[in-house]
Amino acid sequence: MRQALVVGNWKMNGSLAANSQLLESFLERWQGEHQVEVAVCPPAIYLAQVKQLAGDGLQIGAQDVSQAESGAYTGEVSASMVADLDCRYAIVGHSERREYHSETNELVAEKFAAAQQAGLVPILCVGETLEQRNASETLDVIAEQLKAVIDRAGLQAMTDAVVAYEPVWAIGTGLTATPEQAQEVHGFIREQLGDTGDAVRILYGGSVKPANAGELFAKPDIDGALVGGASLASEDFYQICLAAE
Ligand code: PEP
Repeated sequence: MRQALVVGNWKMNGSLAANSQLLESFLERWQGEHQVEVAVCPPAIYLAQVKQLAGDGLQIGAQDVSQAESGAYTGEVSASMVADLDCRYAIVGHSERREYHSETNELVAEKFAAAQQAGLVPILCVGETLEQRNASETLDVIAEQLKAVIDRAGLQAMTDAVVAYEPVWAIGTGLTATPEQAQEVHGFIREQLGDTGDAVRILYGGSVKPANAGELFAKPDIDGALVGGASLASEDFYQICLAAE
């Protein structure tokens, strides 16, 4: 049985005051025992604050890590620094990093390996652009993105990772893949993971909202969500987490 996981990606949003308010408001709702695991990924500068405020109620992750261990990489944050704060996750290969920071499949694979080496669980984002979907290239693109990581880290490494299928055309656009479109790709990802596939949690990301979360989570290969915009509103994020229970 795979435990459902809902991860909030705050992107470059927040402040000391806003983070505190958002977390307090979410944790007030999210009390007691739950079957679903919930994590939030604030900007790196707020990881320590959020870790402290979250207590045992939430897991914390970084939105990115450097591929390098330490040294002359001005502005970068290493995976071991994130692990040092007792964080559990690191998102790698988010499409915004791939697009705005020219991250290649190979660089993402290095970051994946660096995260695991530091004891973090990487959340590997994969997904196609609209042009690629329209050209029927979706599965080829996903296969290539996965292959780069498997070639670098080995198939067995996937058992200590999470994969997030995030169609680029659905991120922050209000467009969501239909549950059937998402299930098709999730099933394909699981197949690509071979014997390890059954154990790996595969999240869907792309304009997940309280109104569409339930029907996405009802699909057999969708194990939760990576949530951007809606994770900044405590009631919406809470409703999405509840839908995953
Ligand atoms: C994301 O940032 O990973 C994401 C899925 O964003 P949104 O939910 O806003 O589409």
